Amino acid sequence: MAMANSSETHNFKVVLLGEGCVGKTSLVLRYVEDKFNSKHMSTVQASFLNKKLSIDGNRVNLSIWDTAGQEKFHALGPIYYRSSNGAVLVYDITDEDSFQKVKSWVKELRKMLGTEISLIIVGNKSDLEKDRHVNLEEAESYAEKVKAIHYQTSAKLNQGVEEMFLALTQKMLDEAKEKAAQQSHLTRNNSQRIVTVVDDDQVPTNKSCCSSG
Ligand code: GDP
Ligand code: MG
Repeated sequence: MAMANSSETHNFKVVLLGEGCVGKTSLVLRYVEDKFNSKHMSTVQASFLNKKLSIDGNRVNLSIWDTAGQEKFHALGPIYYRSSNGAVLVYDITDEDSFQKVKSWVKELRKMLGTEISLIIVGNKSDLEKDRHVNLEEAESYAEKVKAIHYQTSAKLNQGVEEMFLALTQKMLDEAKEKAAQQSHLTRNNSQRIVTVVDDDQVPTNKSCCSSG
């Protein structure tokens, strides 16, 4: 069944979430355009960037949604993350508050979207290890508990960025295939049931309409 799907292109929507200044925009620009800017880029206008990739013969088209800085006003709601297949929840390893913010995003996403959305928790700025304020083991075990992947990245040094997006994409592919398998199973069961219903209905109907005329 999985084989039948391998020639189609999977379109996945991915959203970036996290406190301001953790490096969300830097991660997307590093991944899609291999650029890094040491300034905070609050003026990026594009709402999403596309990235095509292929994993084991599965063609994937990612549309990666970045915020335009609304997170600073706590103004990111369901309209932003609705219908996304995956979320990149970014914290800054030097900023404990930014990790707490990730936890609150996990709660909201699980509440609104359930387990259908694939989550990856990303500790960015791994090049600033000497200023680390988020314990790595703690972050990893939290991620495991909420069924998210955990990765560390440096958008600045280009470490772990491509691997992180690949891991998330792999998880979304697994999820999509599982869903497709469940749906074809459902369809088979339903069509059997429809046949039964039609048989039952045919028995009693003919009598009433013509008997008086
Ligand atoms: P956003 O608000 O989450 O989109 O964060 P930005 O991408 O605008 O980055 C905020 C600041 O952190 C900028 O000054 C970036 O240059 C810097 N930054 C982003 N990623 C890294 C990183 O991996 N290492 C370091 N040292 N700085 C980074
Ligand atoms: Mg940004």
